[in-house]
Amino acid sequence: MKVLVVGGGGREHALAWKIGQSPRVETVYVAPGNAGTAIDAVNVPIGATDIPALIDFAKSESIDLTVVGPEAPLVAGIVDQMNDAGLRVFGPSAAAAELEGSKVFCKNLLHSADIPTADYRTFRDAGDATRYIKDRYSEPGDSVSVVVKADGLAAGKGVIVCSTRDEALEAIDRIAGRREFGEAGKELIIEERLTGQEASVLAITDGETIVTLPAAQDHKPAHDGDTGPNTGGMGAYCPTPIVDEALMAKVESDVLVPIVHAMKRARRPFKGVLYAGLMLTPAGPKVLEFNVRFGDPECQPLLMRLQSDLVDVIEAAVDGRLGEIEDLKWDPRPSICVVMASEGYPGDYEKGRPISGLEQAAELEDVKVFHAGTDVADGQVVNTGGRVLGVTAVGDSISKAKLQAYTAVKHIRWQGAWCRKDISDKALRHSDA
Ligand code: ATP
Repeated sequence: MKVLVVGGGGREHALAWKIGQSPRVETVYVAPGNAGTAIDAVNVPIGATDIPALIDFAKSESIDLTVVGPEAPLVAGIVDQMNDAGLRVFGPSAAAAELEGSKVFCKNLLHSADIPTADYRTFRDAGDATRYIKDRYSEPGDSVSVVVKADGLAAGKGVIVCSTRDEALEAIDRIAGRREFGEAGKELIIEERLTGQEASVLAITDGETIVTLPAAQDHKPAHDGDTGPNTGGMGAYCPTPIVDEALMAKVESDVLVPIVHAMKRARRPFKGVLYAGLMLTPAGPKVLEFNVRFGDPECQPLLMRLQSDLVDVIEAAVDGRLGEIEDLKWDPRPSICVVMASEGYPGDYEKGRPISGLEQAAELEDVKVFHAGTDVADGQVVNTGGRVLGVTAVGDSISKAKLQAYTAVKHIRWQGAWCRKDISDKALRHSDA
């Protein structure tokens, strides 16, 4: 069969690589892909949100299955439009993708389904939100414990964690006053700031049955020790000892099962990947957000450990027969992914810098270098994005996987390349992993 993967980041490279391992798959296409997917699959020069061009391509190449990586085309309705064109596609409809596309919709649904989440208020007007904060905190320097969020998609930047009253007022002004995130800021949420460790629990669902994947932990802040500005994610590891079996069972029964049911009742049945971003608070796990697709970078260490055929699971989800498939098989060894980034990221960065050492890194045992922001120029792999590579390794323990990933990182060079040095240390601190 022929499979089309939509997207061009590390997540899509991992998906294309894993899908390509299925004995039933003859060709994997990636639109638009990157320098890594050009090796493991066939790149197609179509942007991930150019839905009409993707449909034309899928029809003309008789693509049997399309797998959508990023949220933007899902929220824009790629699944509905492909289905209308008679194409098979894995992912939620636009109505179901609202779960990620609108934080207000998500919070209201969580609230009505009694799924644990931070207390919140929603606002349509910057003035009302400002008054709400001023009424509660009278002095400019008063410490507050709130998070201000733009309703819509803002590439991870529309969430502002605030410690003082002035920070909260500034966040409201940026989102709803100055509209820094455009339409995404038409509504905003002010919610209680939670404390604890964060974990990601992903599940594949056909709307009736869920197949939960091992829990992973992302590292959003740019620098070691979780300091610095938030990024798209600087690394991840899986499984995380922070989520043990009992906690996983609680997440399934208190979060995943009720959300699938709530979506069905809301006439937005959810098919695809459900990603619960959780805060593990002293009062139990609480939902920070839902995403409607694989996380990036969590997808890389997850798929590195998956031994079952990913295409079988995806097809079962598309066809509504997930209840019939066998339990997924996983490499018992843990895996970690270290993201190598461009100088300046998450701010502005220079593109087009030649990258060396990829071949040497690829020769290491139990290592896979997934590409994200890369391209080929004059026969040389160069950086084109902020997050450039996801260097992923498995090992007998988390510390061995970590050592192997960072050994691979040392081989790879380009001007200004950097990465966090402490990916997975939280797991090491938590146990003797
Ligand atoms: P992304 O697209 O990167 O997943 P997002 O824009 O959807 O991010 P969230 O995941 O909701 O945003 O929040 C981003 C980060 O902000 C979280 O990973 C968490 O660290 C922090 N955060 C969000 N909500 C809260 C909260 N209520 N209390 C404490 N921290 C929070």
